[in-house]
Amino acid sequence: MENGEKYGRLTLVRKLEGYGGRNVWECRCDCGNLCRVRMSSLKSGHTRSCGCLRRERQQEKFQDLTGMRFGKLTVISFAGQKRGGASLWNCRCDCGNETQQFGTNLRRGLVVSCGCVRRESGKRQYKQNIHYVNGTQLELVRSKKIWKTNKTGVKGVYQEKRTGKYIASITFQGERKILGRFLTLKEARQAREQAEKERDEKLEGMLLAQNEAKAPL
Ligand SMILES: [Zn+2]
Ligand SMILES: [Zn+2]
Repeated sequence: MENGEKYGRLTLVRKLEGYGGRNVWECRCDCGNLCRVRMSSLKSGHTRSCGCLRRERQQEKFQDLTGMRFGKLTVISFAGQKRGGASLWNCRCDCGNETQQFGTNLRRGLVVSCGCVRRESGKRQYKQNIHYVNGTQLELVRSKKIWKTNKTGVKGVYQEKRTGKYIASITFQGERKILGRFLTLKEARQAREQAEKERDEKLEGMLLAQNEAKAPL
């Protein structure tokens, strides 16, 4: 545990003394509030904010989603509230299936179909350790595997035959983005690494939101 470490919206400020040996930290929430949280709650993911997250969710719970579209899903009607107050909605998918989804998942774009999109997009994954964020498989995008056709040894960097320049690119959610053409491999590698970092941060954020949506309030 170190100052500056982040858990959800909370950043560790300092360890507090005088809690009978319990590991309690003062944290700064992204919203600006200071709060005291036990380390075990942070580590378990039980506490992720000063309480502002919970309040925000309370407010968004009662938003009527009827008639709204999320990906291939159209919300037909309210299906009731689950334990903790999370609202469930009846949705019809473009493929004809009907499905019930949580409002938070719909609003955050974590559910975009009855499941048919994922089924169509390839082999089903049975392993528990495969994580999806909006249909992006974390383990796959983060893999360091380099294709045989890659001659530079740096993932996502290729040398253009005609000019000899190094082209760095990154693929995210099915879209390939060219990061630039560089004179040296080093520059191309830096551009790629920076883009990977940004992508990973984005994915972490999405995964966090997804986990929060799943967790009971
Ligand atoms: Zn807060
Ligand atoms: Zn469907």
